[in-house]
Amino acid sequence: MEMKSVLVLGGGFAGLEAAIFLRKKGFKVTMISNRDYFYIYPTSIWIPTGEAEFEDICVPLKELSDVHGFELIVDEVKEIYSKERRVVCANGEYGCEYLVIAIGSGKMKHEGSEHFLSICGEPKEAIKIKERIDELIKKGGGKIAMGFGGNPKDPSNVRGGPAFEVLFNVHNHLKKLGIRDKFELTFFAPMEKPGARLGEQALKMMDIFFKRLDIKRHFGKKIKRFESDGIIFEDDSKLESDFTMFIPAGNGHPVFKNSDLPLNEAGLIKINDYCEVIHDYDESPEFYNVFAIGDSVALDGPDWRAKQGHVAEVMARNVAFNIDAISKGSEERKGYMSHINILCVMDSGDGAAFVYRNDKGGKMIPMPVVGHWIKKAWGWYCRNSKLEKIPRIPGL
Ligand SMILES: Cc1cc2nc3c(=O)[nH]c(=O)nc-3n(C[C@H](O)[C@H](O)[C@H](O)COP(=O)(O)OP(=O)(O)OC[C@H]3O[C@@H](n4cnc5c(N)ncnc54)[C@H](O)[C@@H]3O)c2cc1C
Repeated sequence: MEMKSVLVLGGGFAGLEAAIFLRKKGFKVTMISNRDYFYIYPTSIWIPTGEAEFEDICVPLKELSDVHGFELIVDEVKEIYSKERRVVCANGEYGCEYLVIAIGSGKMKHEGSEHFLSICGEPKEAIKIKERIDELIKKGGGKIAMGFGGNPKDPSNVRGGPAFEVLFNVHNHLKKLGIRDKFELTFFAPMEKPGARLGEQALKMMDIFFKRLDIKRHFGKKIKRFESDGIIFEDDSKLESDFTMFIPAGNGHPVFKNSDLPLNEAGLIKINDYCEVIHDYDESPEFYNVFAIGDSVALDGPDWRAKQGHVAEVMARNVAFNIDAISKGSEERKGYMSHINILCVMDSGDGAAFVYRNDKGGKMIPMPVVGHWIKKAWGWYCRNSKLEKIPRIPGL
């Protein structure tokens, strides 16, 4: 029997996991990615302090395509015609029987964005962050501000964790160098209580951390614009900064505007529990065989929901299962909504905190020293299990 074809757009957590599991089900899989490597974002937080090299965070997609037997096309997706399952790229046009969209998200625009760098942006920005911090170290001191922004139209796209992690790591790096007292570190965010979705106990713990590490807080004021030497807020007050690291909240990927995809107010793709794209003009998504997963989608669920790599991977495995079921004429489906939780090991360079949030509330458990090594071990596991050098732990 001829293998059915699936086109997977994107080679991040969502796209790669979908390609791997669709191959396990015997589909002919083609992946289109504009980068030729899979980037392990969670462990990129160590690049700015030199604890990891850029190459340590990248896994070549060619190597992954050889191991799993999917075809890899490195190209830029420009337009998506989901009704026809047709995709226009910079160097060609592609069609398929099943389409899986996993090209991540776009970023909220901010005035003066040339004056900050983001750890969640283009991967190579992490190297520039390191250069800017190193320059200040060479100079002998300075003011560093790190923070994140909101998206009022879709709060599930706010990403604050890595800003805490990079700042705590920078603190520890400077302390090790014996020059922490020469620096002023500030954490800023427009919300009154950044991190509130992790629960009250987590907020209290973060407060303790900030005080103990002598990190200043600047919360509750909307950001007006970024300048070369600081951040201007809604009341025209200024936070001075020699270097600013800022994570804009996510919104719809710009490519989605060049498509017939159904989008929410923030420009993200509307899907059902099975990750089938729900077109505005049609109540029968099963007719189109178009799926969207990971940071590209409008996530449904409780107020505190957040987009994370592990949710992206659950969606991807579900989609592989659902496509297989559809192709066999089975009614069985797997949904993502029951898997919504927040789960991460928030690193500080000398330890970490285990953060967990579900319907019942949030928990933040300190894990001095060992937490740091758990996150390191996870990074190693992520790379080697995807390359099939070691067996997978189910669900991880
Ligand atoms: C610094 C950082 C730390 C994080 N830490 C954690 C953590 O500890 N735990 C956790 O669960 N989550 C964490 N996350 C979140 C997690 O990384 C994301 O949820 C996850 O990356 C989403 O996967 P994705 O595949 O949807 O998108 P992405 O990983 O963004 O992948 C998108 C893919 O699409 C490709 N692409 C984009 N545009 C195009 C185009 N036009 N044409 C072709 N290809 C394109 C990209 O090259 C990439 O391959 C972190 C994120 C960051 C940035």
